[in-house]
Amino acid sequence: MNGLYEQLCRELRGRVLRDEPMSRHTTWRVGGPTDLFIEPADGEDLAVALRLLTTARCPWLTIGAGSNLLVRDGGIRGAVLHPTRLRRLEIGNGGGVRVGAGLPLMTLIRATVARGLAGLEGLAGIPGTVGGGVVMNAGAGGQQLADVVESAILLGPQGPEVWSRERLDFAYRASAVSAGQVVGEATLRLRPEDPRRLAEAFSGRMAARAAAQRVGGPNAGSVFKNPPGVSAWRLIDEAGLRGAVEGGAQVAERHSNFIVNRHGACAGDILRLIDRIREEVRRQSGVALETEIRIVGEDR
Ligand SMILES: Cc1cc2nc3c(=O)[nH]c(=O)nc-3n(C[C@H](O)[C@H](O)[C@H](O)COP(=O)(O)OP(=O)(O)OC[C@H]3O[C@@H](n4cnc5c(N)ncnc54)[C@H](O)[C@@H]3O)c2cc1C
Repeated sequence: MNGLYEQLCRELRGRVLRDEPMSRHTTWRVGGPTDLFIEPADGEDLAVALRLLTTARCPWLTIGAGSNLLVRDGGIRGAVLHPTRLRRLEIGNGGGVRVGAGLPLMTLIRATVARGLAGLEGLAGIPGTVGGGVVMNAGAGGQQLADVVESAILLGPQGPEVWSRERLDFAYRASAVSAGQVVGEATLRLRPEDPRRLAEAFSGRMAARAAAQRVGGPNAGSVFKNPPGVSAWRLIDEAGLRGAVEGGAQVAERHSNFIVNRHGACAGDILRLIDRIREEVRRQSGVALETEIRIVGEDR
């Protein structure tokens, strides 16, 4: 890993770190160190990083804001790519948008709402990036990215590749983009709408979120997907688990599909709570809950 680290430092213009704690890059504020943490300066830099990692047979994982990510306490063997500087934003008059994966979703939403373009205002308040949003098909308020994404540019050691929305194969909080692939950019199609109405919808969503999601500590939003026809939070509630505690992790009192890092939790605490919820909900209601959050890395 030493030789690769030195080569990356020599050839990249961006930031390269060793043994970087992932707790600094996840909204849960937990996660052990990654061997290498790479923040490319731009798309070209990212392509160089991918080439060097591929040649060295070093596995990698791409992350955005870490707002849907649980990194285990042993951390990540290999590299984490953080394309946070890919922030291009071009908004065309006809509603076409080209946007870099590292741009915060909220920056994109504010900009498109201000231009009177509809299609994203329901997602106001989601703390992720455009890249993470595409991969997860982020959604809220009756909208999801799948409704507006036309294509995405995936970057690889062989160069960029355009993936159509058909190939992206969006589903509920999922897409065909797998671990190790890198979304560099997305092209969206939004529709013109009265800017005043859009601004009201945006503020309404932000207010509703502030009320429902003030949960009292670092979290990663909804932990479980909603099974068909029922809300995960209701099943967790009915299983008597609202407020349940494992170490420093707690099922939020305010929203039982959220787990909060209350008192210096580690990933192990959160994982134990997730297992307990799944077991108890399955025992009491027969439903197998599936996680919405992505779990990566190694146990300590
Ligand atoms: C308070 C709170 C509220 C939330 N509310 C919602 C909500 O209403 N609706 C909703 O859908 N989600 C919600 N989320 C979850 C989360 O914000 C979304 O899933 C978001 O889209 C994740 O984006 P991210 O950049 O943080 O991705 P990360 O968490 O960093 O990564 C998520 C996945 O995407 C992959 N990934 C990230 N970027 C790239 C890239 N450029 N290329 C390839 N792969 C990549 C990662 O490997 C990982 O598998 C909430 C989270 C929080 C903390």
